[in-house]
Amino acid sequence: MTLENPFENSRKQLAKCAAILGLDESIHEMLRHPMRELRVTFPVRMDDGSIKVFEGFRIQYNDARGPTKGGIRFHPEENIDTVRALAAWMTWKCAVVDIPLGGGKGGIICNPKEMSDGELERLSRNYISSIAQIIGPRKDVPAPDVYTNSQIMAWMVDEFSKISSFNQPGIVTGKPLTMGGSLGRSDATARGGLYTIREAAKVLGIELKGAKVAIQGYGNAGSNAAKLAKEMFGCKIVAISDSRGGVMNMDGIDPEMASQHKAKTGSVTGMLNTTPVSTEAFLGLDVDVLIPAALENVITEKRAHTINAKIVAELANGPTTPEADDILFQRGVHIIPDFLCNAGGVTVSYFEMVQNFYMYYWSEARVHTRLDRKMTDAYKAVYAASQKYNIDMRTAAYVVAIERVVTAMKDRGWI
Ligand code: GLU
Repeated sequence: MTLENPFENSRKQLAKCAAILGLDESIHEMLRHPMRELRVTFPVRMDDGSIKVFEGFRIQYNDARGPTKGGIRFHPEENIDTVRALAAWMTWKCAVVDIPLGGGKGGIICNPKEMSDGELERLSRNYISSIAQIIGPRKDVPAPDVYTNSQIMAWMVDEFSKISSFNQPGIVTGKPLTMGGSLGRSDATARGGLYTIREAAKVLGIELKGAKVAIQGYGNAGSNAAKLAKEMFGCKIVAISDSRGGVMNMDGIDPEMASQHKAKTGSVTGMLNTTPVSTEAFLGLDVDVLIPAALENVITEKRAHTINAKIVAELANGPTTPEADDILFQRGVHIIPDFLCNAGGVTVSYFEMVQNFYMYYWSEARVHTRLDRKMTDAYKAVYAASQKYNIDMRTAAYVVAIERVVTAMKDRGWI
């Protein structure tokens, strides 16, 4: 259990931005709270015949800019404050890449690693029927997140379609291609992040060919980031880690081999030609780019002093605490903040929604080009705000996002 409360951290970040923009107190107050929260308990039949009761959440943080959007996490340490923070970050995320959506998030307290496929299917179906009243293709659209994937999305679509008595592919994004998924969605978070790394490298004058990269977390975002960093820019992946530990090789780790090793053994640890590395040493490695791609609160105040990377590209949500942020800014580390860096996933989710509404599907090349444009424009807007106000990149991302959300709230006559 983490000691930091991500929701309190997200409010601290917001407060910094509110001060810079001189936000009206009532507007600030509105942005400090989710607009709607649903907490559900529901039963699931386990393989041994017993019934287990699970707790889940769906939070719709702010829908001024459009229907709420955001993933569903399955995690044993899930709690409502984490989901609140993630829902807030989704709101700013959709605003910073300028897609017409608000922010939401869902979660179930469970340990998917200890559940069979059948149990996970029943869990996913029962959760969707528990929250069915408040979701919909024009209301609130879930997606994959930590420990959820396209198979889980497929069960959710199927369950919601049964409830509605017609086919509803648009109820979630991140679906398999066979039922309305979008080409380019599966590696979109990583690819989007790499476009922002490319832009940051231009601004900082860093050559990405041969640049040393360390990636903490080897799930969907982390493993794809490793493969694409090598493929797109010729970077050298020197360290990777997952929940069981980290490994390094300064001559380079082959990302494909790491994926194969993880598929076989369940972890990247123990991989051939690598040496083990502790979390502290991992974060302190002398690299060009450090990519946190796992969970919240990894870069803390204490660890911030030891970070040696030129760029910290946050593919995870909330990996850096506000105290650590200040230290990294003073030390001149260039942060590409989470809700900018990892916005590629929801951007292609938005493309998936558009394709579902039209029932007309794009080529992968079209998805990549449009994603690149969105991420590049967003990075440039945030970088310009950081220069204009002489503020860190995270606060600058808030400035860009909050201005857009507040304008929509005003246009609607809320405030
Ligand atoms: N879970 C992803 C995120 O945190 C994607 C959300 C989505 O596609 O709606 O951005």
